[in-house]
Amino acid sequence: MIPGKNDWTREELEKDYIGKMTAVTIPVNTSIRGRQRVLDLSELEEILKRATVIAQLECGCRKKVGNCIDPMDGCLGINDTAIQNIERNNAKQITIEEALEAMKRTYDAGLVHMAYVFEGTDRIEYVCSCCSCCCHSLSAAIRFGYEDHVFSSKYVADQNEDRCKSCGTCVERCQFKARTLIDGNLEFRQDKCFGCGLCMNTCPEEAISLVERG
Ligand code: SF4
Ligand code: SF4
Ligand code: SF4
Repeated sequence: MIPGKNDWTREELEKDYIGKMTAVTIPVNTSIRGRQRVLDLSELEEILKRATVIAQLECGCRKKVGNCIDPMDGCLGINDTAIQNIERNNAKQITIEEALEAMKRTYDAGLVHMAYVFEGTDRIEYVCSCCSCCCHSLSAAIRFGYEDHVFSSKYVADQNEDRCKSCGTCVERCQFKARTLIDGNLEFRQDKCFGCGLCMNTCPEEAISLVERG
């Protein structure tokens, strides 16, 4: 985090975001090992493939708060939201391939992929690439204590204790603070895991898998 920048206030989050939208974590670009089966397509890819129009916006949270220098181009409007933003010159239309490339880039940078649905609708309006230091939803959930503001994915990380060498790589990747090193040993709190999958592909020991939440 870059100190001395702006930040959300509790009042701003309560006024504009809390209770106005649902944010759901989605794992991306990762092979998900279910207890009985392997799913080779991520939920994100499915969402984007079903979209008729995809628009790429600049990340408004990072622009406003500026607590990090993570990629700015991982904020995607879907269908009507995409059209509205293109008409207002807030966004450019991109192809599914460009969208998936942007999502791969933001995944590699360690950003959490989120699907946003506004209250009272069941349509996904935005697919975003978020960090806990700038995003309104992750800030609300992780830093301001509104844990119900973000829903976990239907997956959860599963740890192979025998393989883990406590290198700490996954601690850096987890935006939800589900992983910590205590006296040189990895502590994994599965109850804090939102199932984003960010820790999985960077574990050098292949000690982490995503499984369907029980
Ligand atoms: S929700 Fe996420 S991607 Fe969208 S503007 Fe905020 S931080 Fe950026
Ligand atoms: S990255 Fe893998 S080996 Fe390293 S601490 Fe995490 S689970 Fe253990
Ligand atoms: S442990 Fe953290 S990084 Fe890994 S899937 Fe869970 S929330 Fe994501």
